[in-house]
Amino acid sequence: MKSDINFEVKQPKNGYGDQAYWQWSILPLVEEKYWKSTKAVVNKVQYEWRRRLYKLRKAGYPPLQNRYVFARNCPPAGVWVNQTSRQCHLDRICPFCWGRTYVFQCWSRLIPTLFAKEGKRSHRDRNLIRAARTWRFDNLDTALRAVRADRKVELDKLTKSYDGYFGAAKLVQFYPDEQSLNGVFMRVATIVTVPDQSDYVPVFEQFGYKAKLYEQVTKQDLVQIVGRHAAFSSKLFRCDAKAAAKLLESLKGFRTCSYYGDMTQAASKID
Ligand SMILES: [Zn+2]
Repeated sequence: MKSDINFEVKQPKNGYGDQAYWQWSILPLVEEKYWKSTKAVVNKVQYEWRRRLYKLRKAGYPPLQNRYVFARNCPPAGVWVNQTSRQCHLDRICPFCWGRTYVFQCWSRLIPTLFAKEGKRSHRDRNLIRAARTWRFDNLDTALRAVRADRKVELDKLTKSYDGYFGAAKLVQFYPDEQSLNGVFMRVATIVTVPDQSDYVPVFEQFGYKAKLYEQVTKQDLVQIVGRHAAFSSKLFRCDAKAAAKLLESLKGFRTCSYYGDMTQAASKID
């Protein structure tokens, strides 16, 4: 399109949070042959994003009635580009806004809780559990009711009932079940900061979550942990546009990320 901005990609930003985003949210969207060149990867993702927008608009996705050109020109994340433009804020479906909103936010909540100079946390207490589970529901309403009331999902109950719990970052993602008319998959994931010698993993497992304890984590470990936890959903990006448009519209006002305990505090001194 004539109004498309031709972003010139300079270089990757390469901070730890950028790496988490790049490895787990961006690279999986393109074939491996592109991976050697940052520019090729970004150009390809942007091309796919613009194609996706075209289909979503055709499917009648309401926000695109007046934000179409704007969304096509949403600036790439995690890289330096030659010009600025405003973000589209279609956070659930835009691969760039997803990074800025969810991956970087999760990163910047975790870092001060684990590494702040003024914090009381010693390196021995830099432990966390990552847990995730995907459910299938017959329709979105049932899924939303389950997660809002924490019935069946039990994640809030599980997390907060744990004595050693410091804080948690919860993330809820949806994508349509294309084998059925209204079916929907819901992925619920959490990162819980816990003290040393935590034996809490089996409790999550009892409730069907896949869970893993990471001990004495470094910032490099966090790249993998946060990257996995907050990975952009390629399934929602690639599924039938009509199903995606319907799902996205129904999710208006639903919160994707929630933070509890020590992760609700704002970032301060980081070493
Ligand atoms: Zn965007």
